[in-house]
Amino acid sequence: MNFCDLNKQYQAYQQEIDAAIHSVINSSSFINGKEIELLESELASFTGVNHAISCSSGTDALLLALMALEVKPGDEVICPAFSFIASASMIEFYKATPVFVDVSPIDFNIDPKRIEEKITPKTKGIIAVSLYGQCADMDAINAIAKEYGLWVIEDGAQSFGAKYHGKRSCSLTEIATTSFFPAKPLGCYGDGGAVFTNNDELAEKVKTFRSHGQTKRYIHKYIGINGRMDTLQAAILRVKLKHFEDEITNRQKAAEQYYKQLNGHVLLPEIVENRESVWAQYTIGVSQRNELKTKLAQESIPTAVHYPLILPHQEAFRNNVSAQELFEVSELLSETVLSLPMHGLITIEEINQVANAIINNI
Ligand SMILES: *Cc1c(COP(=O)(O)O)cnc(C)c1O
Repeated sequence: MNFCDLNKQYQAYQQEIDAAIHSVINSSSFINGKEIELLESELASFTGVNHAISCSSGTDALLLALMALEVKPGDEVICPAFSFIASASMIEFYKATPVFVDVSPIDFNIDPKRIEEKITPKTKGIIAVSLYGQCADMDAINAIAKEYGLWVIEDGAQSFGAKYHGKRSCSLTEIATTSFFPAKPLGCYGDGGAVFTNNDELAEKVKTFRSHGQTKRYIHKYIGINGRMDTLQAAILRVKLKHFEDEITNRQKAAEQYYKQLNGHVLLPEIVENRESVWAQYTIGVSQRNELKTKLAQESIPTAVHYPLILPHQEAFRNNVSAQELFEVSELLSETVLSLPMHGLITIEEINQVANAIINNI
């Protein structure tokens, strides 16, 4: 069994993917070009935003968003204590200060009730991560941001395809980012990402920063990065995007089956009303997490821990003001979460096998 079966997915779409790859190679158009333009317009219509800007990774997408929002050294940016490193590291990398907030025990996303106490005159914005495939409580977060004049970035690296009150993830905030890392809900065959916004000015800036701050060829208005997506990746993503809705449906069925089998045995993920998860991960909570992980591995069932150490306690943030602070919910999660096999083509039989192995080993 695979944790995320990328080979099965390739077998399923092989002809289309091979054709798309060959077409790019035959055209020798490896940077920019038609496939990038088409992908961007398809991503924009999928999410319902005016501008989708492809880029080199989900990490670079966050960096490009921070650059476009003109974050400055010393600015404070609020972000969750429990997430993948990139949600906070790009703030620090851009010489601003991440200010960590504990997550909610319900959806494991930044807890809107704990944001206000962390706002200072230096606070410029909020990065809200939609972890495991479920959007954060964006209405509550946007309302706080509006009251204090802050911007909001949705880090939708794990939630591309999810819905919140009928709207797609990555369309819920002023600017949003996602990742197309292979194991994400929509993944390419290498690194890739995108930035989403309805704001023309921000979109223009992201495009400029993505290409060395260049406004015309070899004329540079800003210091930027080389943050473009490879055209080959765009061609692959366009094929996968066609099958994406079916994969989302299958992930949702798989999650229902996990729920049916495991309800009453372990702590199960909860999806809040008016939200639809894309199930990037199916993450349960168990007190003897490490023991269960080892036992499942002995039965050839792969699992993963997302994430074993909360962000403010990472050595990388040792100089952060929050390095010694306690984050009760985040810390409990880091000790108890376990992600089970999940992907767009997983079968009910596989889910049952995982569930039985869990029940027999707890
Ligand atoms: C994967 C991920 C990223 C970074 O994406 P890359 O494409 O790997 O750079 C950022 N934030 C979150 C929450 C992620 O899960």
